[in-house]
Amino acid sequence: MGEFDLIRRFFSRPVTRAVLGGGDDCALIAPNPDCDLAISSDMLVAGRHFLVETDAARLGWKSLAVNLSDLAACSARPLACTLALALPAVREDWLAAFAAGLYDCADRYDCELIGGDTTRGPLTISISVFGEVPRGSAIRRSGASPGDSIWVSGLLGQATAGLKLAQGQLELPEDAARAALAALERPVPRVELGIALRGLASAMIDVSDGLAADLGHILFASHAGAVLDVDALPRFAGMELLASDEQLTCLLTGGDDYELCFTSRPDHDARVFAAARGAGVPVTRIGRINADSGLKLVGGDQREFALPPGFSLKGFDHFG
Ligand SMILES: [Mg+2]
Repeated sequence: MGEFDLIRRFFSRPVTRAVLGGGDDCALIAPNPDCDLAISSDMLVAGRHFLVETDAARLGWKSLAVNLSDLAACSARPLACTLALALPAVREDWLAAFAAGLYDCADRYDCELIGGDTTRGPLTISISVFGEVPRGSAIRRSGASPGDSIWVSGLLGQATAGLKLAQGQLELPEDAARAALAALERPVPRVELGIALRGLASAMIDVSDGLAADLGHILFASHAGAVLDVDALPRFAGMELLASDEQLTCLLTGGDDYELCFTSRPDHDARVFAAARGAGVPVTRIGRINADSGLKLVGGDQREFALPPGFSLKGFDHFG
């Protein structure tokens, strides 16, 4: 099967929202004239960002979901996406499953696949997403101020538990194991929550590299520091089965959760809870922005915790 046959067969459904889909030299989309166009790209490399044996349909879902999570973090509504795919060999059953998972996610979040490219090479999935956000209302990393509440959606560290399970390093009861694997392989981008937080969140980021690193990006961009309440961090069912010294590391540095971490003015707490309820996503207040630099971890009785060993606020280094 040649490149054009492959695209025609697996990745060309008619578009309904875009002006023009794949097949021409460019696709065309027409964002609302009162909106800014939000754009993000993410690349997933086999063996680096996912296990080679990952189920193809789940991989298709996740490849788009992680990009939609970036749109959510800027409060943008998804419009369209493109897919560039390098494949070591053309396996039709794998491609059919991958495409089904990708379209499943695309349909759920109303994000049309409008074009792309394929080539032979080590399995690499590169997706770009396009979204729209009312002009000037995108939520950035730089807007946090001292006194702001710090929030996170959903649960932390669950995808890390899923990875440990998949690698045979952890055992969990059946329900907890299923939830952990789903968190790893079928993350839910918080698109509705991101939109609900317009005008409410002062800064926002999605948790892809771990809470501490991603909150660190907000602190760096906002020239601020933070105190996190360790006891408030939302734990997943089964976390207590991890060694006690691993639990805090998992909560703070576990990657791949794709939850939203955001800040808001302290007098907006009730509105944040209401917005989250409307979006159907639980949120937890986990700390406060201050004027210091760096990140301080404090327990309920004011005892201080050290940052996990080897951790720095510069974030995860993808070339490390
Ligand atoms: Mg991100």
